[in-house]
Amino acid sequence: MKKIGIPRGLLFYNFYPFMRGFFDYIGIEVILSDKTTKKTLSSGSELVVTETCLPVKIFVGQVLNLIDKGVENIFVPSFQSIAPKIYNCSKIRGLPDLIRNVVKKEFKMIEPTLDKSAKNQGLYEFLLETVKPFGIMDMELIKRASKAGWRMYNNFQVMLKSGMNYEKALTNAIKGKLLIEKDLTEYPISIALVSHCYNIYDERASMKVIDKLNKMGVKVYTAFQLTDEQLQEGVASLGQNVYWANETEMTGCAGYYLKDNKIDGLITITAFGCGPDSLMIERITRKSKQFKKPLLNLTIDEHTGEAGFITRLEAFVDMLYRKKRSQNIVENNFAPTSNVMEFV
Ligand code: SF4
Repeated sequence: MKKIGIPRGLLFYNFYPFMRGFFDYIGIEVILSDKTTKKTLSSGSELVVTETCLPVKIFVGQVLNLIDKGVENIFVPSFQSIAPKIYNCSKIRGLPDLIRNVVKKEFKMIEPTLDKSAKNQGLYEFLLETVKPFGIMDMELIKRASKAGWRMYNNFQVMLKSGMNYEKALTNAIKGKLLIEKDLTEYPISIALVSHCYNIYDERASMKVIDKLNKMGVKVYTAFQLTDEQLQEGVASLGQNVYWANETEMTGCAGYYLKDNKIDGLITITAFGCGPDSLMIERITRKSKQFKKPLLNLTIDEHTGEAGFITRLEAFVDMLYRKKRSQNIVENNFAPTSNVMEFV
């Protein structure tokens, strides 16, 4: 059977449910790299300059992991522009060139390009470029496989937006299931976690931040529970136009939740050295002052220590509890659950 390796990194967290449905239908077996470990990170970091952002270092490590597993064909797409005049950052756009230049090992790169701006190149051309190296050029088959990809993607999105966790929604979608699951736990505090999917859902990069916050009694909202309309509304509320492809995950998410009364505070997570995010964080910080919403900005790189990360989360959450207690919104006898102690 034909096989393709997909590195768990960068836009993998967005496109995987679609591409998995597509490859399953078309008859190409998908082999995923392993979840990010210390080794993935150090092997990726060794090959790039220090200033490179953490998500790219992780991606390089994920490619090496697939090569070590003996996978010959590795999917390294170039997502240049996903809509007219909406661009990805240069590292995502130039990913195949970056990998070619730093990974000097034997493997074949499957490197389709999606460019809606310069080339007005659509999804079908992107998919054809993906499967051509496997000898598949039947456009009717590609279109049918694309429909199967959208089915899996849409089911995944419905489950994720309902509040199901990422892994569970993905597993269900791959099995062809569509389940709605509501978390009925009463959390005293609600926060919006503002970051890119590859920072939030890579457990090594985010240090399982959602689990940690849940155990502190915090319900976490992200961009991935919002509709496209809500995200656009959020971008507009920060008074700007979308330029970066993944801008809605940052400014759209922050702009929307800043106006949402159930949200007690915001936490942003950005990678050290990320140019686009530093500009967006600047605007989010200014706006949060205007809305008087507490904000914690966290920067991550490969040296970020878990103990320091937890301390900052705890201090922020503790401040939110105190603020609520002072307004008599939380029972005075309420305290963060004993689970918090597990992280001290
Ligand atoms: S947007 Fe930032 S974090 Fe993401 S790949 Fe580009 S530089 Fe790295």
